[in-house]
Amino acid sequence: MPFLGGPELAKVYKKAKAEGFALIANNFTEPNVLLGLFAAYQARKSDLLVQVTGGAAKFAGGGNALAGLRALSRYVQTLAKEAKIGVFLNLDHVTPDLVEGFVPPALAEGLCSSVMIDASELPFEENVKATRAVVEMARPYGALVEGELGRIKGVEDEVASDEAFYTDPNDAVEFVDQTGVDLLAVAVGTEHGVSSGRELKLRVDLAQAIDAKLRQAGLERPLVLHGASGLSGDQVRALLRAGVCKVNKDTTYQFLYARTAAEFYLGNRASVVPAPGVAFDPVTFEAPGSQWKPDKKLFDPRVVGRKIQEAVNLVAQQMIDQVGSGGKTLYA
Ligand SMILES: [Zn+2]
Repeated sequence: MPFLGGPELAKVYKKAKAEGFALIANNFTEPNVLLGLFAAYQARKSDLLVQVTGGAAKFAGGGNALAGLRALSRYVQTLAKEAKIGVFLNLDHVTPDLVEGFVPPALAEGLCSSVMIDASELPFEENVKATRAVVEMARPYGALVEGELGRIKGVEDEVASDEAFYTDPNDAVEFVDQTGVDLLAVAVGTEHGVSSGRELKLRVDLAQAIDAKLRQAGLERPLVLHGASGLSGDQVRALLRAGVCKVNKDTTYQFLYARTAAEFYLGNRASVVPAPGVAFDPVTFEAPGSQWKPDKKLFDPRVVGRKIQEAVNLVAQQMIDQVGSGGKTLYA
């Protein structure tokens, strides 16, 4: 299946909302996580949504976010051609300062299926303005736009109570109406964004209230959950019933990558790291006065890479089960 755009992604979200499942939005920066995801999603016949933050794009481009996005997106698009599932790419957490010079070419070159504009740190009216501008950019290309509403409008930073870090249902209606966003990321007590570091109670009832208000206003939208790494399976399922159709996952893969690499290299330390006092030269591949040589069967990056891919594949399949997207591909 070739890489797919906003109109096809909208169909997946529509089905997800009607049937009560969600897509995990899987962050990646490098090939091993991506290849593990492709393996998992094809095995489970789920459409695959990957996402790239501005920071990830910058990393992949050696400091140039647009170059990095081009490289990552073409990698995804090339793999997608061989896959029997729908494959989508979301630009994740694009902050207002990154829009210019990044989002317009990404849309024009077909590098993404959707864009998430994160102006949730701004006051409500400015968030609306910044989000609306991206909606207008995306429309001609059919790309979807996700906005984020993090706090009740008009609250001053220093005097904000915990209540201020939850999305107000009436604000949600006003925000969707004024911006025209296709998806809405809501703050319902996960450890994320402006609420990061606060111990908030997860409010499934609030997600339900937001969904109900949007429906009443004729503005039903898939809701998006950010900062979902610490939630239990039961909490995630309750949120899906409350209208959440996209669940962001980044931390899980970062941890799997580091843990898998750490276990592998610590377990094979003596074959990769010279003993103290042995001065091994990586250019001549010799250590004066020592017979020690590193083991190529272990230090070839593909060896640990395959283990990372397997770890990601396994856990990604568990998360597919959690959100119920397995067997639901529209694009086999
Ligand atoms: Zn967010």
